[in-house]
Amino acid sequence: MAIRTHTAPGDDPGAERVPSLSPSRAADFMTCPLLYRFRTIDRLPEPPSSDATRGTVVHSVLERLYELPSGERTPGRATELVRPAWDALLEAEPAVADLFADDEDGSALVAWLASAEALVERYFTLEDPTRLEPVERELYVETTLDSGLRLRGYVDRLDRAESTGDLRVVDYKTGKAPRAGFEQRAMFQMRFYALVLWRLHGRVPRLLQLIYLGSGELLRYEPDEADLRATERKLAALWAAIERATEAGDWRASPSRLCDWCSYQALCPAYGGTPPPLPDRVAASPDDDEAPSPRTSPVDA
Ligand code: SF4
Repeated sequence: MAIRTHTAPGDDPGAERVPSLSPSRAADFMTCPLLYRFRTIDRLPEPPSSDATRGTVVHSVLERLYELPSGERTPGRATELVRPAWDALLEAEPAVADLFADDEDGSALVAWLASAEALVERYFTLEDPTRLEPVERELYVETTLDSGLRLRGYVDRLDRAESTGDLRVVDYKTGKAPRAGFEQRAMFQMRFYALVLWRLHGRVPRLLQLIYLGSGELLRYEPDEADLRATERKLAALWAAIERATEAGDWRASPSRLCDWCSYQALCPAYGGTPPPLPDRVAASPDDDEAPSPRTSPVDA
């Protein structure tokens, strides 16, 4: 079983950099400009997290599930895919082994794999995969707006209605659904994808669907052109703010409850730390040519 590595198709380290943004990095900047800087400008490594790694494994299982003939897409067959997905991830990213470095008797790994299996089983309470034939899974999408900003990311799944050709964009989350009042923030990533697909194919996706395996809930939204134009304006404003921060070298810490999951607290002034000097190359162009969708936080997972 192969695991998608964190490199976008067409990434060429020697190629000229184009201003680009993925939903994850856009969310970073909206959450905390300093977090964006650490991840995207400094590119400081982060230790693997249990939640994000489980997210990667579960996503891989759900992708592989749809390679099976429809009649074989059962909870039993799906949970059998968890261990091979973990083994493939270990091979692709050996650093994830650190999660279980102190697990002498192997019990922590067994429990963690069981928690991934439970999420996969819950998926079957939300959708019937024997009745679905996605047109795409883990689809890399990219478009360049008139402003020159490139948008890109990975869509977990794309369904197309046979009769109408309507598109449904689906994203899996291994966490819980957002509390009331926070749904729109969660849906931002989906509007981002919908905008890219609209620009690519000239058709607004009919439905955006988030599947929360942690709480067994679905969040759905029907976008329209006005929504997606508003998303484009929001992204333009966000990119302008990133460019201003880059020019000024001013990356403010913005503490929130998400700091609990931040790998960089020791370097953060909000926690008594001191950020390292900015790398020289940042003066040339802020850039988001990091992987489009590494699952680096509970928000991504
Ligand atoms: S600890 Fe909080 S405030 Fe500091 S960089 Fe991380 S997310 Fe931002």
